[in-house]
Amino acid sequence: MTRERLVVVGNGMAATRLVEELLARGYDGHVTVLGDEDTPAYNRILLSAVLEGTHPRDAIALADPLAHDPERLTVRLGCRVLDLDRGRREVMLAVGDRPGHEQLAYDRLVLATGSIPTLPPIRGLVRMDGRLHPAVNAFRSLADCDRLEAAVSSRAPGRTRAVVVGGGLLGLQVARALTVRGVVTEVVEGTEHLLSRQLGTPGGRILARDLRRLGTEVYTGTRAVRLSGEGPTTGLSLDNGFTLATDLVVLAAAAARPRPWHAEPASWCGAGSWSTAGWPPSPTTGSTRSATARSVAA
Ligand SMILES: Cc1cc2nc3c(=O)[nH]c(=O)nc-3n(C[C@H](O)[C@H](O)[C@H](O)COP(=O)(O)OP(=O)(O)OC[C@H]3O[C@@H](n4cnc5c(N)ncnc54)[C@H](O)[C@@H]3O)c2cc1C
Repeated sequence: MTRERLVVVGNGMAATRLVEELLARGYDGHVTVLGDEDTPAYNRILLSAVLEGTHPRDAIALADPLAHDPERLTVRLGCRVLDLDRGRREVMLAVGDRPGHEQLAYDRLVLATGSIPTLPPIRGLVRMDGRLHPAVNAFRSLADCDRLEAAVSSRAPGRTRAVVVGGGLLGLQVARALTVRGVVTEVVEGTEHLLSRQLGTPGGRILARDLRRLGTEVYTGTRAVRLSGEGPTTGLSLDNGFTLATDLVVLAAAAARPRPWHAEPASWCGAGSWSTAGWPPSPTTGSTRSATARSVAA
């Protein structure tokens, strides 16, 4: 009897947990995990601890399911699935920078690709050629973390300025990590107070006060609307008329939505301007809000 071929798209936390569980329960098919990031699966939630310097990169690695049974599992890194053909039961994937595509057949397919972050409406984030402004960074992946790390390490403490757009959980995590690393950090939050989904007004105000005491400036009730200049002249303009001079802009205010695999495949593959598909070396923004793995074909 031929073994079932299970293909899991995405190598994040949901995929890792699923595969661990399948192998532990004695799944007798062969599992292939396709992840577009170059790194083995890691705990995304701890990225800010890596940036802050309290956790080395290795410490956030997730357990390697290969350790369970290499015979039954193949993990392919740097593989981006571009399209699904549910009729033929195949996925089309691109491997790293290699030209051309590869087809991979499956009997059962699981989509564990997290969410698509969307860019906040700030003029100047994207240039005419479709590339992001060089000061713009996201904070979703280890690659984003490495880019920020490189930017922070390239100057002496106190010489780098950053504006974090978004005063939610993700934004505050990044802001705190940057401040601890000696970056002069400012947070811009469009609602009236920080953590507006979690806290009432008094709590948000106390938090802002404490952050200021710890060295992070906070602007609430104002939105970033325009990014202009470049290098030392980079400035992020707010709708209250102020412009914040900065070296780095970290986006932590974007909404995230599930990847629309159910849509016409051509509508998302590689073309979604704000999805990770179009981004390297550009940033991906925001946190994903659900750790789900969806099985779409059996
Ligand atoms: C900095 C940060 C802090 C966070 N903190 C918290 C927290 O404190 N608490 C909390 O509950 N949540 C937190 N989150 C959210 C949490 O990380 C996500 O909910 C969780 O990672 C979702 O897991 P997932 O496996 O569904 O998706 P992801 O972790 O996003 O993994 C999906 C993987 O699929 C890959 N992929 C996508 N498309 C393709 C494709 N076409 N081909 C191949 N691979 C693809 C992606 O690159 C990614 O590696 C945080 C997120 C971030 C970024």
